[in-house]
Amino acid sequence: MSLNTTPRGQRLHIAIFGRRNVGKSSLINALACQDVAIVSDIPGTTTDPVYKSMEILPIGPVVIIDTAGIDDVGTLGHLRTGRTLAVLSKTDLALLVVDPGQGVSEYEHAVLKEAAERNVMVVGVINKRDLYPRVDAGELSRQLGVPCAAVSARTLQGIDELKELIVRHAPKDWTAPTIVGDLISPGDIVILVIPIDKAAPKGRLILPQQQVIRDVLENDALALTVKERELKHAVESLSVKPRLVITDSSVFLKAAADTPPDVLFTSFSILFARYKGDLDALVRGVKAVDSLRPGDKVLVAEACTHHAVEDDIGRVKIPRWLRQAVGGDLSFDVVSGGSLLPDNLKEYKLVVHCGACMLNRKEMLSRLMQAGSAGVPVVNYGVLMAHMHGVLKRALSPFPQALSILEDDGEEAELEILRKAVLPKAVPEAVLGRGASCMVE
Ligand code: SF4
Repeated sequence: MSLNTTPRGQRLHIAIFGRRNVGKSSLINALACQDVAIVSDIPGTTTDPVYKSMEILPIGPVVIIDTAGIDDVGTLGHLRTGRTLAVLSKTDLALLVVDPGQGVSEYEHAVLKEAAERNVMVVGVINKRDLYPRVDAGELSRQLGVPCAAVSARTLQGIDELKELIVRHAPKDWTAPTIVGDLISPGDIVILVIPIDKAAPKGRLILPQQQVIRDVLENDALALTVKERELKHAVESLSVKPRLVITDSSVFLKAAADTPPDVLFTSFSILFARYKGDLDALVRGVKAVDSLRPGDKVLVAEACTHHAVEDDIGRVKIPRWLRQAVGGDLSFDVVSGGSLLPDNLKEYKLVVHCGACMLNRKEMLSRLMQAGSAGVPVVNYGVLMAHMHGVLKRALSPFPQALSILEDDGEEAELEILRKAVLPKAVPEAVLGRGASCMVE
């Protein structure tokens, strides 16, 4: 399923409110980095709410509801019309755009009141920061009682901070539209490789495996589940090639070897890295592993305070492998829990994040954007493991954009890692972060 066919109901719906000429259309363009809205200096260019499906990186597919013109003539009267109320009933998050030259009026307070009555979160946006460099987002925030960002839609100043606020205040149940649906078509065969070993919970599949099967079925494709030993036999028995093979990370090498080269191949961890966050950012992060030098500081970020066990993946195994890869000592700090990463992020050359099984998409994206603002690369356990096995390139075959990020110098980097490090013993998906707890299963 392509972006344009992603059902609207699964996209984050962001409504943009503001009086005429505050720059709503320019703001939409700045968020999308393309000319999608009509931009005009003539007040009231559009008169009805316009729904635009678009991709905002790294937020993903969204629907922007452009309410430009809704306050034309008789401002508050129009706010209370059915049109506006209909917009709010379809809105996950509202952006209230203010022009510092116009200040705050009854209109803004009316939007806030209507939104509050419908439990819609509002983020304030002071636009035209380039023209009013002294604008203070904190002051507007105090005035409106909602979080605010100061931006210039024209120069893009502050747009990244605004995206962070959007993600942070998106509804808790917001997810990406699909786990695998955009990679497959109706009738396709998807093979899932799931080892049944002592790391697997007794009598059941873990949640991410169940979720992938469910997503395959919802997309009218066929899910064929095998253990790693049966993969070759399964592929040879089929009269048509499978579209996609998804493996548990613990059997990466065998599954890669038994999957025909022209069949898309990936892992559960990588699928969930994309579903829960920003795969491209994590691939950029893995490249930073190769520039680590002895003495560098690395932050291991665990999203929950799980009970660490002997030979813990984040505290023991990954530090050991990274030291081997770097050929010297590294300084590791570990943080557990908390809603965001610590304030001293800039001290670190790399953040190695857990699989985030306990985080939702907005929480993981908030962390990635926070690290992005601090200029610190982030990789997660799953992407790092694929890299250290030398199979990341193969495992990114379904994701051309992420692959192109890696391919700048990725192949050589993976060979380098393999040359320097003892190939890490495979770690089951259960400890890469999914399901109940990373150490419990
Ligand atoms: S992977 Fe899951 S269980 Fe492990 S630290 Fe992260 S959130 Fe907690």
